[in-house]
Amino acid sequence: MNVLIVYAHEEPKSFNGAMRDTAVRVLKEVGHTVEVSDLYAIQFNPVGGKQDFTALAEPAIFKYGVEQTKATEAGTFAADVAAEQEKLLRADLLIFQFPMWWFGLPAILKGWVDRVFAAGLTYGGGRWYSQGVFKGKRAMLSLTTGGGPTIYSPTGLNGEMDTLLFPIQHGMLYFLGFDVLPPFIAWSVARSSQEEREKYLRAYTDRLRNWRTSETIPFPPLEEYDETLQRKQAVN
Ligand SMILES: Cc1cc2nc3c(=O)[nH]c(=O)nc-3n(C[C@H](O)[C@H](O)[C@H](O)COP(=O)(O)OP(=O)(O)OC[C@H]3O[C@@H](n4cnc5c(N)ncnc54)[C@H](O)[C@@H]3O)c2cc1C
Repeated sequence: MNVLIVYAHEEPKSFNGAMRDTAVRVLKEVGHTVEVSDLYAIQFNPVGGKQDFTALAEPAIFKYGVEQTKATEAGTFAADVAAEQEKLLRADLLIFQFPMWWFGLPAILKGWVDRVFAAGLTYGGGRWYSQGVFKGKRAMLSLTTGGGPTIYSPTGLNGEMDTLLFPIQHGMLYFLGFDVLPPFIAWSVARSSQEEREKYLRAYTDRLRNWRTSETIPFPPLEEYDETLQRKQAVN
């Protein structure tokens, strides 16, 4: 199986770097092919725009989504975008490895999503959610935080972690059809003891060994929504 880790940390000696290294080692040990997109190392440009294309289909008025769709048909994505898309299309498991920044993805990783999850290629024409392009493939968030688990509990000051991750897990990954594994969260790593951090790496190892058989988040399939895209009464 092919695994793509999209890694968004500038410092190789960071705990995110340790999680990435752990994932590469463990996944290779069990026989997978692992690719890493090290976004800072490749100086990935996170700003979506005209430079994403080698030619514009409708240059008079620039519409990003329209150009993405046309580039999918014409094969006119710029080399940096096309290289990431090829890795994405090869992956049976997609992992985002990142520190939580401002309750979400660091900009470099959000920009990777904007540019690589292109209209036409990864969604569109009725291909979304449970009928999405990546149906049958899996994805997982692996993140570190500054705050501890209680501040992200249902009554916690920062709001519930599941709610904060919904735009990524549902709005990006499940939107494309991925089955989304529960996130692996290493809480408050800078304030944890060395022993606690080593425990996180061991727990992550176990999670990675079981990624093919673990339960995924039970997001409802499209059949459970009516023509106004609201959950049908019967299943509420
Ligand atoms: C712009 C910005 C926005 C932020 N927004 C939020 C937010 O919204 N919510 C929130 O909760 N936090 C937030 N934070 C905090 C951020 O999430 C944490 O700083 C980050 O998750 C810590 O991860 P790290 O990999 O950078 O840790 P590091 O500080 O790199 O690592 C922590 C410790 O682990 C050690 N370590 C490295 N490798 C290993 C290893 N192999 N074994 C054991 N220990 C090791 C390191 O030496 C270090 O002592 C924000 C930070 C920034 C800069």
